[in-house]
Amino acid sequence: MKYVLVSGGVISGVGKGIIASSTGLLLKTIGLKVSSIKIDPYLNVDAGTMNPKEHGEVFVLSDGGEVDLDLGNYERYLNITLTRENNITTGKIYQHVIEKERRGDYLGKTVQVVPHITDAIQAWIERVAKIPVDDSNEEADVCIVELGGTVGDIESMPFVEAMTQLRHRAGKNNFLNIHVSYVPTINGEQKTKPTQHAVKSVRSAGLIPDLIACRCERPLERSTIEKIAHHCQVDVQQVVAVRDMPTIYQVPVLLEEQGLIPLLREAFKIQDAIPPAMVRKGRKIWQQWKSLTVTQDHYYEQVNVALVGKYIELHDSYLSVIKSLEHSAMRCRRKLNLIWVDAEHLEPATRQSDPAKFHKAWHEVCTASGVLVPGGFGQRGTEGMMAAAKWARDNRTPYLGVCLGMQVAVIEYARTMCGIADATSEEFNAKATDKVIVFMPEIDKATMGGTMRLGLRPTVFQPGSEWSRLRALYNNAPEVLERHRHRYEVNPTYIERLEQAGLTFIGKDDKGERMEIVELKDHPYFVGVQYHPEYLSRVLDPSRPYLGFVAASAGCLEQVTANLNTDGIDSPVNGVNGAANGKDF
Ligand code: GLN
Repeated sequence: MKYVLVSGGVISGVGKGIIASSTGLLLKTIGLKVSSIKIDPYLNVDAGTMNPKEHGEVFVLSDGGEVDLDLGNYERYLNITLTRENNITTGKIYQHVIEKERRGDYLGKTVQVVPHITDAIQAWIERVAKIPVDDSNEEADVCIVELGGTVGDIESMPFVEAMTQLRHRAGKNNFLNIHVSYVPTINGEQKTKPTQHAVKSVRSAGLIPDLIACRCERPLERSTIEKIAHHCQVDVQQVVAVRDMPTIYQVPVLLEEQGLIPLLREAFKIQDAIPPAMVRKGRKIWQQWKSLTVTQDHYYEQVNVALVGKYIELHDSYLSVIKSLEHSAMRCRRKLNLIWVDAEHLEPATRQSDPAKFHKAWHEVCTASGVLVPGGFGQRGTEGMMAAAKWARDNRTPYLGVCLGMQVAVIEYARTMCGIADATSEEFNAKATDKVIVFMPEIDKATMGGTMRLGLRPTVFQPGSEWSRLRALYNNAPEVLERHRHRYEVNPTYIERLEQAGLTFIGKDDKGERMEIVELKDHPYFVGVQYHPEYLSRVLDPSRPYLGFVAASAGCLEQVTANLNTDGIDSPVNGVNGAANGKDF
């Protein structure tokens, strides 16, 4: 196993994850099998209990793991399926070591950070790196290990120590450290001091940066690169400039242009050892990537989509949703114009307190070509979401409701079309009489961590759903597999009334008990899904419910559906029989 450690200095949040995923993609394009591990030095066991407004979205894996959103980047860029174990947190490592201590595994010993925690980290990485993540079902050749935060943080010290040991254990030509730094421009001058200090502190922690990836706004001047190389005792080729790009999909191309591939080949001493079939496969991935991501944008028509949500202050709260829209827009050859609408601004209370906000929000919804209501928790903003769903339904504007977005669409339908005026969700009002959305019976009410209905589960298209636009997008598959994350569901006792009023539940779980997809027949595209299709969207294989939504908003749904398998991108159908779960491009 070869390892690429991606660490950060100066500041976090400058795109370490994208650099790490892009490096992984480049390794894939030369024919290697790539896996990845993300280390988050916080104490939470997993990301499931963290507020999306603080940490960005919780990403959900097929095995139900609730993990850091960076794992989503890896799955999307590398088209792989990771497990919950691919996200290491301090909480997980300590839990593991403490359990061993209680069992008596270290009997007689004093259990310490070094060596017990650091050994546990290395053993974890070595074990998880070997789990097959793609359709080859074989161990990967390279594992990208991304260390969250910056080197020097108190929390990350045991991980840094473990990495220095792992470098030694992995042996020569098997370990490479990319250190991501930041080069600010002050009064027109590119400043290298923060990078110099960052590299110094990485060295004193025992790591050896083999590549210094400098985030910067503009291309680095030759003199800046030389200065960094000189002060950090590396060759100029080892300094890579990662400037802001029009889209993050162009970062792999930028890295390739700067000679990253020969550098990686040299560092890992991989010259001709890759099987020709894998080399061909890699080349094809690269071609597809470039043709889809580089030529896009400037001359495409715009598609205006309103995202009506409650965590809109931090766009990362909806990262996978945005990515799915981007993937879909690329496939539709449109430029995505995403309009952020705070659901609360659509509510009557805002009309009173801040009429300007209210009217602005409504103007945005009314002029958008499509309305999307994503997932969420709690009651705040849900009346605004229902109003947006009603607008879309009444005005034949394409609508996609995801999880909570599906639930509010069902409640709105019950209120308006079935005359159940007080219809609501148990989540919003536990004492209500007409709970059209209820708590799922098997869900644990007392424990919050990891207790929702999570992960990959089947949805079966129901007899008589042949007309469904969504089903056609899934290539008329009888059954699809998508990832879930919810506690509430449509109350079975209301289904008959809803269906009689015209809302069809065209997809249910394999037992036929759980409502998974609603769709309106007499509407250009009105779809609600209880699952989260955004978690399986891939750059080269967009999520089908999103693709349909963007295509309908852009007025090209029929064409996109008809061309699904003939538009030159022979990818598997995302979500169908788990196709995106490890199947390669
Ligand atoms: N809060 C809703 C539930 O738990 C929706 C969850 C979601 O949108 N992820 O069912």
